[in-house]
Amino acid sequence: MSRTVNTDPGPTAKNLLGPGPSNVHPRVYKAMTSPVLSHMDPEFWEIMDETVELLREVFQTRNPLTLPLSGTGSAGMEAALYNSLEPGDTVIVGVAGFFSSRIVEIAQRCDANVVSVNADWGQAIPPEAIDAELKRHPEAKVVALVHCETSTGVLQPLEEIGRLAHEHGAMFLVDSVASMGGHDLAVDSLGIDICYSGSQKCLSCPPGLAPITLSDTASQAMKARKSKPRSWYLDLSMLDEYWISARKYHHTAPASMIYALRESLRILTEEGLESSFARHHLNGEAMRAAVGAMGLHLVASEEVRSDTVHAILMPEGIDADQVRQTLLNDYKIETGGGLGPFKGKVIRIGLMGYSSQASNVLTVLSALEKILIKRGHEMPPSAGVSAANRIYTEA
Ligand code: PLP
Repeated sequence: MSRTVNTDPGPTAKNLLGPGPSNVHPRVYKAMTSPVLSHMDPEFWEIMDETVELLREVFQTRNPLTLPLSGTGSAGMEAALYNSLEPGDTVIVGVAGFFSSRIVEIAQRCDANVVSVNADWGQAIPPEAIDAELKRHPEAKVVALVHCETSTGVLQPLEEIGRLAHEHGAMFLVDSVASMGGHDLAVDSLGIDICYSGSQKCLSCPPGLAPITLSDTASQAMKARKSKPRSWYLDLSMLDEYWISARKYHHTAPASMIYALRESLRILTEEGLESSFARHHLNGEAMRAAVGAMGLHLVASEEVRSDTVHAILMPEGIDADQVRQTLLNDYKIETGGGLGPFKGKVIRIGLMGYSSQASNVLTVLSALEKILIKRGHEMPPSAGVSAANRIYTEA
């Protein structure tokens, strides 16, 4: 009996300029083709050790408990909350977007007493509001924030809130999924106790790993728990025994993804953290200048705009999702849609990791200009591209 041979060559390559995943660096793809080793092979342990050392460098921390979790950014979020909260514990969460709302949802599943401090989408959480809740809840164990809120493109200032949390004896928890490697995030000097990220954004890897780091305070608090964390798979004490303190089997490590992460961290540290932040900033500046020149507006208020994610409001009467569809179909450019109140109104452009390049900024702007003018938006031709180029020539 004959059967039809499937000759499908696989997915078409797209330019990933959405809020994640970002384009994967060619060196990372190459690293992923290395032979898979056993998770108990001493040669693999050396790769694990180098990966952890590089993660500490990128997190800017000396925390012994630093490792990549097998899972996406949401696994990082769950691990951070499951390991730091027990039923009845109080957590104060700054909520101003989709991902901070996810923190609330997960903290509720820990049966924690969740206190939300809300701000409008597009705004940062004011330190005074966190301070007021810390005074109202002296028992608060954790204060949680998202550094770059991917749904709005807001970069939340961390310093003041971290200081307040510690002043009140609470641990400081930060989501750095859309910022680690693209924005300065000095875990130790900011006093962050629990910080997690994802492999697929500024680290230029495929999705699948969630780096996480815990301060000594957070590690001690974890050891002093009365109950075990809700998740066996994400129990950081057990993962510590495999990754750091002993080589005790926990689960089969996804070897190819670890190779990918190690390579991406090597690339990032070869470039240098400061240079990477400067590159993200320059491309962010170019994008912001172009948005203004095109007569468009960003969701994020001016003083708290991230360089990594840009949520751009489409002009009245133009459907954002149709614009995105045209970018994808005609230009093979992936962008993100609006979430929550911005559904259908916003396109989100991510310039993270290997995607954060001037050539990508100019390509997406040129396509966007053509699409918007065709749909009736009035703007001088090439206004966005020219404004971005001005930033590049003056840099
Ligand atoms: N936190 C933030 C700020 C994010 O942007 C995302 C994903 O985009 C997540 C958490 C969840 O990560 P993942 O989709 O990799 O599970």
